[in-house]
Amino acid sequence: TFRALLVTKTDDGQKSEIVDFNEADLMDGDVSVDIAASTINFKDGLALTGASPIIRKPALIPGIDFSGTVTASDNPGFKPGDKVVLNGWGVGEGHHGGYAEKARVKGDWLVKLPEGLSLEQAMAIGTAGYTAMLSVLGLEKQGVKPGDGDVLVTGAAGGVGSVAIALLSKLGYRVLASTGRAAEADYLKGLGAAEIIDRAELSEKGKPLGKERWAAAVDAVGSHTLANVLAQTAYGGTVTACGLAQGPDLPATVMPFILRGVKLIGIDSVMAPKAKREEAWSRLAKDLDLKKLDAMTAKAGLADLPKLAGDILAGKVRGRMVIDVKA
Ligand code: NAP
Repeated sequence: TFRALLVTKTDDGQKSEIVDFNEADLMDGDVSVDIAASTINFKDGLALTGASPIIRKPALIPGIDFSGTVTASDNPGFKPGDKVVLNGWGVGEGHHGGYAEKARVKGDWLVKLPEGLSLEQAMAIGTAGYTAMLSVLGLEKQGVKPGDGDVLVTGAAGGVGSVAIALLSKLGYRVLASTGRAAEADYLKGLGAAEIIDRAELSEKGKPLGKERWAAAVDAVGSHTLANVLAQTAYGGTVTACGLAQGPDLPATVMPFILRGVKLIGIDSVMAPKAKREEAWSRLAKDLDLKKLDAMTAKAGLADLPKLAGDILAGKVRGRMVIDVKA
């Protein structure tokens, strides 16, 4: 047996407890992994609290990310001793996930740990950081360049936001950070933000078009915030949308698209094809300042997850968390 956090659905909701889990009860897969670390993302918060129906089994080990070492493999791509990273693919939703000391998954879901990153750093990045990289790749693909003008990051003090700021500033962009946490201004400037914007400026219903304030934006917030971000994007600019921290609605008009040629690019991390993941992870190893990653990361154990789940949904977790699955 091994230690795991198990969520069980009950008549009046769900409960989570740390259990001794039988290896034979892990789900099908062709690669077995000794988990080194996991993390908590916004989606894990939804899963652990039951705030959204993320968990699709009566009993499931949550955790949409893990990193670890392969112990057994029937997949030609992996052998015992390989260091691997997993993000998404429905793990921690319909397949037992990262809040455990062991996992069994499809090898096709795994990415080899890129050179230059430790297993722990890979989880400091996690789905949030890998999605920040996918968002930056989304801007690059549209031809956005540092000389074009400022890039806005919303949900700045959160996981996606913190990694996006660090990446963009290292790549030479001038970054505007929108946050509801004025007290985190120094933290955000330390990650590379040039200016702080109060998120209240963006979170209420606004005009269909406003002053052109940024050349591009990485949005993790959705709802009125995304509508206002689009309305204030400069002519020909690009906005990526990956999140719904404010809400899943998009109360916008077509004006930014039809009068300014603004582009809205959707970002998905869960089903992203393997080649895209490998590109994102190799760019993270190259373009993420590891000192900044360290500065945005705190540590906790499996037993801390139920409390952290409430905190992340309330927007109270700063940056990223690494979960020690043995603690
Ligand atoms: P997180 O660490 O909780 O960050 C979210 C941030 O959004 C918060 O820190 C807060 O930043 C801001 N925020 C929270 N509530 C808000 C509200 N009501 N109005 C405006 N801003 C609010 O979460 P995360 O793990 O980085 O994820 C961010 C979002 O991206 C989530 O919605 C998540 O589901 C989504 N996501 C999607 C994908 C994908 O594949 N598409 C992958 C990863 C994440 P401030 O305190 O700085 O204002």
